[in-house]
Amino acid sequence: MSSDLQELYQEVILDHNKRPRNFHALDPARQVEGYNPLCGDRLTVYARVEGDRVQDVAFLGSGCAISKASASLMTDAVKGMRVADAIGLIDRFHEMVTSPSGEPAGDLGKLSALAGVREFPMRVKCAILAWHALRAVLADHAETVSTE
Ligand code: ZN
Repeated sequence: MSSDLQELYQEVILDHNKRPRNFHALDPARQVEGYNPLCGDRLTVYARVEGDRVQDVAFLGSGCAISKASASLMTDAVKGMRVADAIGLIDRFHEMVTSPSGEPAGDLGKLSALAGVREFPMRVKCAILAWHALRAVLADHAETVSTE
């Protein structure tokens, strides 16, 4: 990756950390809290599903820049998606951040800003926290999920 591209990606992360999108509670909605004990990230992901579509999705909580930016980018990406497509995206995101470094990561548009975390195993858990919670929300599991 060129350093320009890396800078751009860092900007995306910093921007979403500073001004997280969809950063509010949703009511009524399914919600699941995700907790990453390694870093202390604690996020609640809300989703309102109507029929087979994710009508609205939001999150609240506190955590490091990676966890918040990842949650923010995630809510932007999955809002309005069919549930099956959202679950597919969760899988593709998981693959992207856990694929071996050196191999090309899948291109997930803006979400590719987070591909760099695969170089830092500790950070993978930060990046993936909100996605674990979303998967649980979409499966309608009202419980706390952990990255452990
Ligand atoms: Zn973190």
